[in-house]
Amino acid sequence: MSERLPDLIDLWAFVEKKRRIKGSLPLSRMDRLSDLLLNPAGEAQVDLSFGREDKVAVVEGRVEADLTLQCQCCLEALPWPVRSEVRLGLASSIDEANRLPDEYEPLLVPDEGVLPVADIVQDELLLAIPSIPRHPQCVSPEPDDRSTAAAGHPFAALAQLKTKLSSE
Ligand SMILES: [Zn+2]
Repeated sequence: MSERLPDLIDLWAFVEKKRRIKGSLPLSRMDRLSDLLLNPAGEAQVDLSFGREDKVAVVEGRVEADLTLQCQCCLEALPWPVRSEVRLGLASSIDEANRLPDEYEPLLVPDEGVLPVADIVQDELLLAIPSIPRHPQCVSPEPDDRSTAAAGHPFAALAQLKTKLSSE
C-alpha cells in the first residue's frame, strides 16, 4: 500500500509521458501543514495523473488524508478527514494562469520545471483546512466569551460609525 512517490516532479516531462504517480507521503514531510496539526503522524494518500486536455497541461487525481487539527475553542483534537479532488492546470506565468479554463486551479511551474511532490500535496491539504478549526459543538459563541464576540461582530464597526455620524 505504501508505494513510494518520486520526491521531485519534472512537470513538463511527466505531462508528455502521461505519467501517473500513486503512493503515500508522510504528513511530517510537509512543514507548513504539520505546523497546523495537533499530531503530524500519518500519511497522505496521493494519486495524480499528468497529461493534456485540449491544449492545457493538467494534473488530475486525488489527495486524501485523515488530519488531526486542534479546535481553537477547546484546544482538543479535531479529526479532519480530507478527500480532495485535484484539478490543476500548469502555467509558466501569471498571464498563462489567467488564461486557463475556469475548471482548473493554476499551478505555477517554476523556471526549472521541477517541484517537490510534497509541495503540490501540501497545497491541496492546506486548501481543505478551515482558517479557524472548531468542533461543530464549539462554534456557537459562549455568552461570556466577550473577546470573540467583539472582534467577530460584523456590525460592530457600522454601529460605531452610526454613533459617530449621529453625534455630528
Ligand atoms: Zn472544540
